[in-house]
Amino acid sequence: MKLQTLEDLLIEELKDLYDAEQQLVEALPKMLGAAENPRLQEAFRTHLQETENQVARLEEVFEELGVEPEAHTCKAMKGLIAEGQQMIKAKGDADVRDAGLIGAAQRVEHYEIAAYGTARTLAQRLGRSRAAELLQTTLDEEGATDKKLTAIAEGGVNQEAAGQVSASDW
Ligand code: FE
Ligand code: FE
Ligand code: FE
Repeated sequence: MKLQTLEDLLIEELKDLYDAEQQLVEALPKMLGAAENPRLQEAFRTHLQETENQVARLEEVFEELGVEPEAHTCKAMKGLIAEGQQMIKAKGDADVRDAGLIGAAQRVEHYEIAAYGTARTLAQRLGRSRAAELLQTTLDEEGATDKKLTAIAEGGVNQEAAGQVSASDW
């Protein structure tokens, strides 16, 4: 990889994200399938749709920059998804597993928030305001998803996992 300009760096960041989002389109249905809590299922279902849109939005960003969309393996996302996979396969209590799935999903969102924040700032810096706007839209979705997952954890999954409330309290 050769990084001569900030534009080169932006394009590298986008290629990494393009791969990361495509990995997530594959992984989210498995997270959804493993989730027990209906609110958590709904959050994964909604975010799967958003993630599909985010792949298309990245293609728009590439087009905006006059570059062919290309994916470079995001090793970090491979690792984060592998950790999520361990939660999916975990035996034991379903509510505890849900709490683990939330933790794994929030690690993913935080990675995306960092990466989109970087890409957005680079685009702004380069005067690519339309690209920056598109990246900000996705960044907002990732942030909202992270907050929603926190709310689900605080609103029941963790208490349920601790055996303090019944399933009807969701
Ligand atoms: Fe995403
Ligand atoms: Fe990456
Ligand atoms: Fe996300």
